[in-house]
Amino acid sequence: MLYRSSRGQEGEFTSAQVIKQGIAADGGLFVPDHFPVLTKNDWLRLQDMDYKERAFFILKLYLDDYPEQELIKCVDLAYDFQPDEFHGASEGSKECFDHPQIAPLQPLNSFCHVQELWHGPTGAFKDMALQILPHLMTASIRFTEEESHIVILTATSGDTGKAALAGFCNVPGTSILVYYPKKGVSKIQEWQMITQPGNNVKVVAVDGNFDDTQRGVKNIFADNRLLAGLNKQQFKLSSANSINWGRLAPQIVYYISAYADLLNNKALNWGDSINIAVPTGNFGNILAAYYAGKMGLPVKKLICAANSNNVLTDFIATGQYNRNRPFYQTMSPSMDILVSSNLERLLYEINGHDHEQLKLWMRNLNENGAYSINAELRKALQEIFWSAYCNEEETASAIKYVWEEYNYLIDPHTAVGFNVYQKYRQATGDDNTVTLLISTASPYKFSYSVARSVMDPDSYTFDDEFKLAARLEKITNKKIPRSLRDIAKYPVLHNETCERDNMEEPLRRWLNLTPDEN
Ligand SMILES: *Cc1c(COP(=O)(O)O)cnc(C)c1O
Repeated sequence: MLYRSSRGQEGEFTSAQVIKQGIAADGGLFVPDHFPVLTKNDWLRLQDMDYKERAFFILKLYLDDYPEQELIKCVDLAYDFQPDEFHGASEGSKECFDHPQIAPLQPLNSFCHVQELWHGPTGAFKDMALQILPHLMTASIRFTEEESHIVILTATSGDTGKAALAGFCNVPGTSILVYYPKKGVSKIQEWQMITQPGNNVKVVAVDGNFDDTQRGVKNIFADNRLLAGLNKQQFKLSSANSINWGRLAPQIVYYISAYADLLNNKALNWGDSINIAVPTGNFGNILAAYYAGKMGLPVKKLICAANSNNVLTDFIATGQYNRNRPFYQTMSPSMDILVSSNLERLLYEINGHDHEQLKLWMRNLNENGAYSINAELRKALQEIFWSAYCNEEETASAIKYVWEEYNYLIDPHTAVGFNVYQKYRQATGDDNTVTLLISTASPYKFSYSVARSVMDPDSYTFDDEFKLAARLEKITNKKIPRSLRDIAKYPVLHNETCERDNMEEPLRRWLNLTPDEN
C-alpha cells in the first residue's frame, strides 16, 4: 500500500514514512492509494477474532511495509486488557483497557447499539488511536534503521494531551512534552495531566489561552536553529495530532469490529446496512467510518452530529464551508472546533482525487475562512452523510432521557450523537435500520455536566468535580471507570508554568540542549 499527499506533491510514500512524517511537505494530508475490500470470507474470519486479532488483520492491509512481528507487537502493547484486581497504577506500570472486548457494544434497544470507545486509560476515545501510535512510530524508526529519538510536542485543550501522555508514557525511544493553557482546561483534565507518571514525560502549563499555546508549539516546529540543534543530538520532533495516518488507521478497526460483533449477536444478517452516528469535531472519527464503508462495511447513512459549533452541519446542507461565525464553549468541548482538518481527506475522495481543486478550496479556507463545493458534489456528500446539530439544552435533555429511559449514563459528546440520531429518525422515518451510536467519553470524565442533567439541582452543590463523581456513582449505581476513579489521590508530579513567549525554554532545559547553537 502506498500513500500520496492530498495536495498532489510528487511521490509515493510507505506507511512507515507517512507515520514518521505526519503531514506532507506541501501541507497536504497523506491518503492511501486504494482501499482494500473485505470478502465474505474475511468477515467470517473477523467474527471469530478478538479485538487484537481484528486490529492486526485490518492494520496489516494498510501498514504492509511493517514486518508482521513488529505489527503484532504494536497491537499487543496497545490493546491490553487487565481486570481490576491485577491492575496496579504505580509508576512504571502500563495503563491498559478495563474491558476485555476493548470496544464493546451496549444495546439500548434492538435497533440502537452504543459502541463504548472509552475503556482505555484516559476515559475518552482518543485512547483507541493514541495507545498504538507511539508503538507504530518507534517501530517505523526501528525497521527503517533510522537512529533517532522521537520527541513529541503537543498543545492540548483537554483530551488529546492526556491520551498522548498515557500512550507515550515509558515507551522506549520517545519523550513527550505537553503544553496546556493554564486557564483553558477543566479541573479533571488538568489533574489527569499533572499527575502523569513516567520517565519520559513532561507537562508544562502556559500562561495564556489555547491559541497562545498552539501558536507557541507551531513556532517551535518552525524554529530552524532549534531544529538544527535537536538534529545534532539525534532528536526528531514530531506531533501526535489527529491528522497523522497512524491515528486514523487504528480508528477504522473498531467500526469493522462493531459490525462483526453485531453479526455475532444476531442483531443483523451479513450484508445488512447500518447507520453510524458519530459526535464529530475534527472529522477524524467519522472519516474512519467512511473509510470502513469503502472497505465493504455496509453503511446506509453516516450521521454527523455537531454541537452548537455547527460548521459541518451547514456544510453538508449547503455546500458552503464557513468558519467565520461565533465560537461557542459548550459542555462537549472536544467538539468545539471550527476547522475540521480531516475533512480534506473526504473531499479528496468524493471529488475524484482532484488535488488542484482541493488546493484552491484550502487556500480559500486559509485566506477567507470559507469555500464552496458545487451542487453535484454536495449531492454526492448528502448521499453518504446526514447531519444536524444539538444545542446545550438538548444535550442535557438527551443525557437525562437516556438515563431515565434506558438506565444508561452517557457523556455530553455521546448525548449530542444520540440527539442528532433522534432528529435523523424524525426527519427520515428510518426507525428500523440498526444504528451504531459512537460513545466517545466516559460520563465520569464530564461529571459536572452529567450530574447537572440527571440530578435534582437542589440536592447537591456543584463545586467539586471529584466529590460530584462519587455522588453520581452512588445515585446511579454505575461504576466510575478505573481510569478516573482514584485520580484525586494521585500525587502532583508536574507544576511548571512558562511564559507564552518563551515556550522553548522548558524544552531546551529538559533535553539538555546546549543554548549556544547560534
Ligand atoms: C476528540 C473527541 C471528539 C471528536 O472527534 P473527532 O475525531 O475530532 O471528530 C468527540 N468526543 C470526544 C470525547 C473527543 O475526545
